[in-house]
Amino acid sequence: MNRCLSGGGYTTLSDTLGTPLGFLECASVRFPRDAKELVDGVPFEERRERFCGHYVESNGNGMYAFRMAFVTDGKMINKEIFHRAKLLLADPVVVERIREMQDVAAQATQASITALMQDWVDIANADPNELCAHMRVNCRHCWGIDGAYQWVNMAEYMMAMREAAKHPDAAVPDISGGFGYTLYNDPNPGCAHPSCFGQGQAHVHIADTTKLVGSARKLYAGVKQKANGEIEILMHSQEKARENIARCLGAFKDAVQLPGDDARRKPVAAVPTLEQAQQTYLQVIQGGKP
Ligand SMILES: [Zn+2]
Repeated sequence: MNRCLSGGGYTTLSDTLGTPLGFLECASVRFPRDAKELVDGVPFEERRERFCGHYVESNGNGMYAFRMAFVTDGKMINKEIFHRAKLLLADPVVVERIREMQDVAAQATQASITALMQDWVDIANADPNELCAHMRVNCRHCWGIDGAYQWVNMAEYMMAMREAAKHPDAAVPDISGGFGYTLYNDPNPGCAHPSCFGQGQAHVHIADTTKLVGSARKLYAGVKQKANGEIEILMHSQEKARENIARCLGAFKDAVQLPGDDARRKPVAAVPTLEQAQQTYLQVIQGGKP
């Protein structure tokens, strides 16, 4: 049995090295040999697993991890928590498990970095016209027969007829331009109608944002309807995305000239290693500057 003195005594770390967790019977917590044994109603192996997880999550804060995994009554003093955490961290099972968790965390970080970097690239290269675009489209006379008003179809023409019938003085709608008008046709350069002269008419197209895919979907940041009914399409900043990419690639570093540097020495635009790029990237996404 390891020594574990009460009343302010210590079990030194060297006492426990090489000794798997034995019965360390102390005031409020004991570490059993049997991983299945309950500690405050929870199997020891489960609390040990929690300890490892909190240790990795807190980037190596053993006392925090111990508090989260083992302390249930809030009465344990810091010195005791420190001591218990040290004991756990000397356990080869814990050491191995923490190493495994750190490897998984590193891989997950790498994956998230790659994914987020891809998002920035996609946002930077997205075409805003896929979300909303100002277009010049054909007018009603561009493609009408002999330049006359072109109707969409007979239903539209009949509707116009019914409307005209309500006003005795209204002229009968001209059907000579024919049917087949489609909003998105190009203007006819030869259109002679005074409102067009081949320039078409302005039209703002807003995409169905529920059907956006790829980079356009990543560029889309939502929609806002104003009090007057106008709709505004929100987009993520492409400028910011480009800046983040450039910062990750170290593009801004060569512009930094420290006091005392030899003015004649040309700044070197060093190509960052993958690790340096990742480090810079993490700083950027955490709001810091590289
Ligand atoms: Zn026209």
